[in-house]
Amino acid sequence: MNRRKFIIESSILASTALFSGTLLSFTHLDEACATEIFDVVIIGGSYSGLSAAMALGRSLRNVLIIDNGMPSNRKTPHSHNFITQDGETPGDITRVAKAQVLTYETVLFHQDTAINVLKTSNIFTVTTQSGKVFSAKKVLFATGLKDIMPAIPGFSDCWGISILHCPYCHGYEVKNQETGILGNGSLAFHYAQLVSNLTHKLHIFTNGQADFNTEQQQLIRQNKISVVTQKVLALEHHNGRLIKIHLEDHSSYPLTALYARPAFEQHSKIPMVLGCTKNEQGLLVVDSNQQTNIFGIYACGDTSAFRSVATAVATGSQAGAAINMALSTENFNLKE
Ligand SMILES: Cc1cc2nc3c(=O)[nH]c(=O)nc-3n(C[C@H](O)[C@H](O)[C@H](O)COP(=O)(O)OP(=O)(O)OC[C@H]3O[C@@H](n4cnc5c(N)ncnc54)[C@H](O)[C@@H]3O)c2cc1C
Repeated sequence: MNRRKFIIESSILASTALFSGTLLSFTHLDEACATEIFDVVIIGGSYSGLSAAMALGRSLRNVLIIDNGMPSNRKTPHSHNFITQDGETPGDITRVAKAQVLTYETVLFHQDTAINVLKTSNIFTVTTQSGKVFSAKKVLFATGLKDIMPAIPGFSDCWGISILHCPYCHGYEVKNQETGILGNGSLAFHYAQLVSNLTHKLHIFTNGQADFNTEQQQLIRQNKISVVTQKVLALEHHNGRLIKIHLEDHSSYPLTALYARPAFEQHSKIPMVLGCTKNEQGLLVVDSNQQTNIFGIYACGDTSAFRSVATAVATGSQAGAAINMALSTENFNLKE
């Protein structure tokens, strides 16, 4: 089987189960694949990657999306605060987005894991776990973040269900409920300011000695938020729904929701191997065009500290437009 045929067939296999309606669109890709060099390979086919692919597909760019189906919000039952899709499941939002993007005949979707990207002069070579090799003029990382679960029994079971990273995404659903903040210092204080507007039944669990300055302590007191410094032993839950937080002194507090921001890392290490820089928060550094510090390598999605589907879609759209403009300019300027 030649490479072009493989690309088409593997994309069809990966996608037809979900999107029988897109089968027809792949047949139009014969011609696009004939060049053997994609305009863009997008690594990561969730919200930001699909959004970029839409801008690029509508600009007639030959695009290959490589995705292995592990978005960071996959455990959350319902996604909120993204207009037109409020309350939908994360999977349903992606399914609709994917179906719309794959109607553009120049966009291919390949289910696989990118394991290496090599830059040689102006061409990128992308290798996947299944041993496939693709070439592209530009590469876009839409690979998201991977949250690292702390070693507290019950934490990972509740993550995304009743342990929440963001009041805008999930706070309304647990308004006026018994709520905890697992954190310390400025992060916990920031959560306290935000969440106290949603519930007055609020406790901060610092999991060790509290680290608030005098002004923060005073404001926390004035807002009647208790600070609990005992070490956290375990989180009792039923199918991810919190029941109680258990502490080292054998005390416990009933809880419906707990806000926490666990450590995270880049879902893909490839950008760093290529020399892309991260900021002190661990996010990929991009310019106003979503381009990293390496020419031709772009990143979108959770490149912003405001982790949300809306931001992911916005930065993906911006990246798609910026890449299209770069390709257009390069091509335009070559014409005699
Ligand atoms: C628990 C939780 C709940 C959330 N709830 C909400 C909410 O209700 N509302 C809201 O607006 N936001 C919510 N968010 C934030 C939102 O999910 C993220 O901001 C958004 O998913 C970022 O989109 P993205 O496309 O950048 O990355 P992701 O959605 O994380 O997708 C990255 C994609 O890249 C793929 N990938 C990674 N590496 C590779 C590789 N090497 N090869 C191939 N594919 C790869 C992954 O499998 C994944 O499909 C939540 C986040 C979390 C963690």
